[in-house]
Amino acid sequence: MKIPLGGVAAPGSSRLNKTGGWRVFYPEFLHIRCTDCGLCQKLCPEGCVFRQDKKVYYADMDYCKGCGICAEECPVDDIEMKPEVR
Ligand code: SF4
Ligand code: SF4
Repeated sequence: MKIPLGGVAAPGSSRLNKTGGWRVFYPEFLHIRCTDCGLCQKLCPEGCVFRQDKKVYYADMDYCKGCGICAEECPVDDIEMKPEVR
């Protein structure tokens, strides 16, 4: 999506930007201690965390920008940020 200089993106348009290209770190969902609290999904600013099954969450890497909020907020440290290898 092209945003004009000084312009503002239209609301709800974040899915048009594949923000995964910004990533320097990526979240690794360990699937060991997850309690299914859903915080990672609720707090991800890109809305790119999905629940695949009970206690199994994953991030859509096309959109994950590697901000680390999910890992920081996971109450049982079941998400680790790892350096991205490109
Ligand atoms: S690192 Fe940031 S963008 Fe990626 S899944 Fe976690 S909260 Fe979402
Ligand atoms: S924040 Fe942690 S414990 Fe909660 S659903 Fe996500 S991975 Fe599981």
